[in-house]
Amino acid sequence: MNAREHLDYLDIVFTRNSDTPADAVREGRCIERPDGCGQPLVGEDGTARVFWSQEEAAGYETEWRATGLCPDCQDAADTGSNL
Ligand SMILES: [Zn+2]
Repeated sequence: MNAREHLDYLDIVFTRNSDTPADAVREGRCIERPDGCGQPLVGEDGTARVFWSQEEAAGYETEWRATGLCPDCQDAADTGSNL
């Protein structure tokens, strides 16, 4: 491939694999695989994960804003706060 095609190729590959926590937070979802599940934090029917307490919710939100991982993925990865 020539240089231009190579750049396009890199663009495609980079775009597909460049999901960042900032992207996930901006779109209100979990970061894409392989790090997360890519699912919205609030379902299409408006339901969100139920937390035991405001403190727990705040802890998960802080972690989500830093890592892009939804509460389920935080639990799975064991990176969530232990509030
Ligand atoms: Zn997730």
